[in-house]
Amino acid sequence: MTAPSETPAPTSRPPRIAVVGGGITGLAAAHRIVELATESNRPVEVTLIEASQRLGGVFGTRRIGGYTIETGADSFITDKPWAVDLCRRLGLESSLIGVDPEYRRALILYRGRPVPAPEGLNLMAPSRLGPILRTPLLSPLGKARLGLEWLVPRRRSREDESLASFVRRRLGRQMLDRIVQPMIGGIYTADPEKLSLSATLPRFVEMEREHGSLTRAALRNRRSRPSQTEDASGARYGMFASLAEGMSQLPGALAERIRSTGEIRLGHAVTTVEPAERVSDRSPSKSFRIRLADDSQVAADAVILAVPAYRAADLIDAWEGQLAEALREIEYASSAIVVTGHRLADIGHPLDAAGLVVPYIEGRSLLAVSFLSRKFAGRAPEGCVVLRTFVGGAMHPEVLERSDDELTSLVLSELGEILGVTGRPDVSTVVRYHRAMPQYHVGHQARVAAIDRIASRHPRLALAGNAYHGVGLPDCIHSGQSAAVRMWEAVHNGDLTEAMRGPAP
Ligand SMILES: Cc1cc2nc3c(=O)[nH]c(=O)nc-3n(C[C@H](O)[C@H](O)[C@H](O)COP(=O)(O)OP(=O)(O)OC[C@H]3O[C@@H](n4cnc5c(N)ncnc54)[C@H](O)[C@@H]3O)c2cc1C
Repeated sequence: MTAPSETPAPTSRPPRIAVVGGGITGLAAAHRIVELATESNRPVEVTLIEASQRLGGVFGTRRIGGYTIETGADSFITDKPWAVDLCRRLGLESSLIGVDPEYRRALILYRGRPVPAPEGLNLMAPSRLGPILRTPLLSPLGKARLGLEWLVPRRRSREDESLASFVRRRLGRQMLDRIVQPMIGGIYTADPEKLSLSATLPRFVEMEREHGSLTRAALRNRRSRPSQTEDASGARYGMFASLAEGMSQLPGALAERIRSTGEIRLGHAVTTVEPAERVSDRSPSKSFRIRLADDSQVAADAVILAVPAYRAADLIDAWEGQLAEALREIEYASSAIVVTGHRLADIGHPLDAAGLVVPYIEGRSLLAVSFLSRKFAGRAPEGCVVLRTFVGGAMHPEVLERSDDELTSLVLSELGEILGVTGRPDVSTVVRYHRAMPQYHVGHQARVAAIDRIASRHPRLALAGNAYHGVGLPDCIHSGQSAAVRMWEAVHNGDLTEAMRGPAP
């Protein structure tokens, strides 16, 4: 397999597939194309084009003074198979590590003090009543309201609903403000009043539909699977994994496999992707011209756009305004992570958890603090700890107007008040993520269906990434791999077996 050339190729040349964007989605897509070529013994030319000088997008493992610091994603969920499967195929299975059982619990800030999330709480469905009755997070009134959840009738409407509306309706206002908002805020950096329940947490919609009550569903589930290991509290930490040397092992291994037969171009921002021939609904384009910022071009028979939706919109706007407009309807939030390494002796709190989430009503700037080296062994020198503090998001965008130094001071000051952090950190770094997190607002699935409908006019153009069917790493990997299979079939007139197509979502 060789890289696509810019000169016209003879008609017998192998098909050329280009991938725009070298985050995990684009890497997973390019890697799947390389795999398909090997599995089917059919040649293909694959080129991955990345604007920045590094691969991985929202991944970054740095080693500073004995610390292994994750500046982006730090783990992934294993109940969706695609990330674990990919690690296995890349030979990384022996590097998979789980969250330390000793720290599988979440803390929630309550009136300035960290309190454990109630045990057996599956985000918002309590499978054990004792811990809920004992938690100081809810007042007696809040607990009584939660108890009434059994009696709240099923919602009849099939229309999408916001997370906040669902939680208030079923579990009461205190559950929303004190427990669910901070837990979800830590994952989606989102405003729960706008967040679509069916696009982000469809299992709770199903629980209500099937069982009429989340509590009933959770208790039944627990009874039917009593042997299932349960986290101490909160966020199902037993289902999360990382890689021993840090998350960047994954993009590193993908890049190595892609480079074995394909081409990766770093530092090349794509400016437009346009059909190489005239397009009509009856005969969509069979080839594309990809223009780069340095005025060079890449020709391709199929293209995967693995960039944020608003960026994909810019690339095709000149000839597919309707699709561009639909893509721009997906909003994004910005955030920053302040990563600090401390001596444990400088911290008053025992940090006996995987992390802390901060309810909006606490009036703090912090969204969440992940105790990275508690979750995963080997991330900090003996007697030290790495904290990853999240700020910004949809609920606190104004915080990001501060300089890096101001953000660090703000974070250290709040960590001091909340966790008793004192002294100067051994290491400290601020990483900003500008418009990196798509916001799955109410109506998201309908918006994505409309995008898919318009995009289906162009069978050799695929959209992939965290904007559409899930923001987590397994979903992004699946999105990239599915796009790869579609584009492979488009250029080879569909010659894959079911096994090569891979599992359905
Ligand atoms: C701070 C943060 C922490 C997260 N933590 C976790 C976690 O722990 N676990 C988890 O499962 N998920 C996590 N997520 C979500 C998950 O990491 C992301 O959804 C996922 O990594 C997105 O991958 P992507 O390839 O779709 O996009 P990106 O990583 O954004 O990659 C897109 C790439 O496209 C490139 N690009 C953009 N425009 C162009 C252009 N014109 N030409 C060429 N290249 C271009 C960019 O430079 C970038 O490299 C986190 C997200 C954020 C923001």
